[in-house]
Amino acid sequence: MSDGSADDPVGGGAVRFRSTRAPGGSATDLDAALLRGLADDGGLFLPERVPRLPGDWRDAGDLAELGARVLAPWLGESERAAAELLGDALAIPVPLRPLSDRRWLVELFHGPTLSFKDFGARVMARLTARALARREGRATVLVATSGDTGSAVADGFAGQPGLEVVLLYPEGKVSPVQERQLIAEREGVRAFAVRGAFDDCQRMVKAAFRDPDLRELGLTSANSINVGRLLPQSLYYLWAARQLEVEAGEGRPARFVVPSGNLGNLTAGVLAERMGLPVEGWLAAHNANDYFPEFLAARRGAFDYRGTVATLSNAMDVGAPSNFERLHALLDDALPGRIDGASVDDAATLARMARTEREEGLQVCPHTAVGLEALARWRAASGGVDVPALVLATAHPAKFPEAVRRATGRDPEPAPALEALKSAPTRVEPLEPTAEALRAVLLA
Ligand SMILES: *Cc1c(COP(=O)(O)O)cnc(C)c1O
Repeated sequence: MSDGSADDPVGGGAVRFRSTRAPGGSATDLDAALLRGLADDGGLFLPERVPRLPGDWRDAGDLAELGARVLAPWLGESERAAAELLGDALAIPVPLRPLSDRRWLVELFHGPTLSFKDFGARVMARLTARALARREGRATVLVATSGDTGSAVADGFAGQPGLEVVLLYPEGKVSPVQERQLIAEREGVRAFAVRGAFDDCQRMVKAAFRDPDLRELGLTSANSINVGRLLPQSLYYLWAARQLEVEAGEGRPARFVVPSGNLGNLTAGVLAERMGLPVEGWLAAHNANDYFPEFLAARRGAFDYRGTVATLSNAMDVGAPSNFERLHALLDDALPGRIDGASVDDAATLARMARTEREEGLQVCPHTAVGLEALARWRAASGGVDVPALVLATAHPAKFPEAVRRATGRDPEPAPALEALKSAPTRVEPLEPTAEALRAVLLA
């Protein structure tokens, strides 16, 4: 990828992608990068060049309009064609909620499954359907899930032409709210409750990808390394910065606080910065899975990962962040100076949830609380109290009722989208935890 100043402002064809492991190697188009997920050499796809933001990006009236304007050169489409392709996928409100002390929450949980994963999954689904239509192909999206990704993918991909979704989750090991979201009946989606652990689900998925008998199904994954999720996730950073400037009247660039696990969200933010978004800096807010903060503090080397520990903010329980390789390549030597990190344990997470309710009258999910606590520590350590801070609120608190009850002694405010699911029809099939059982249902 070229450096920011040399980037082409007007396009010159759609952006092409290269492997992080072969920066001088051959480039591939967006369709191939989408359908393949990982490069052949095992690396992650990075854009060959980053189109600069159009001069009028702040004039967009909503996220969908902004998305069409910003992503058109990535897609090699006109703004109108991009709007047609992605408009409904991005029709999700992203309000800024002011807190005290120059802090704002960027509420990313107003999509159908109430986490930021909706943005990436919905856009990736449209882009994948477009790529398949061009090749007259079909694909089956195979996902092992224990958290927010599965329901966002099921919802985002449901009913897309040429696409089917197969979801595996460990029976009895996801929360009741999560399970209801996973097994809601959706067009083209099959959910399987695997009689085993999450690791069994992952093992079955990996075996299926290697299985020559399944090749004709066009198996594909929708995990957070896919460029189809990365691109749309850049948009809400732009939108939040625009809201801060235009509506809250803040003149200074903000520090973004990103509750992080696989580092997909943070990587998308850094990509927005490479497009030209002014940013004061980044704060990667992790739970007890502290590989990245430890790396930033030069206490761990690159790729020197540890195991995963279970926490209350379980969507961030990642010991080896899959986007680290891409973030590392994207930032290169500039990385440590631009990004600060923090690791917040469960006790501090619960305390921050309680304090936010007490002081702001607001319930937040445990992931968002990790972000707020990380910000408080960063401000105390850096003296950056005047720096406006945009904290990504990554999920709705109603998705985590047990944690909200533990922290505040009260039930979370109900979320209409979850209430509606209680009476929605469901469909789920049991599955033995073996590769053979999965092969049989995929071929049936
Ligand atoms: C997935 C997720 C995260 C972590 O995002 P990454 O892109 O994996 O860093 C944080 N919060 C919630 C609610 C999530 O679902």
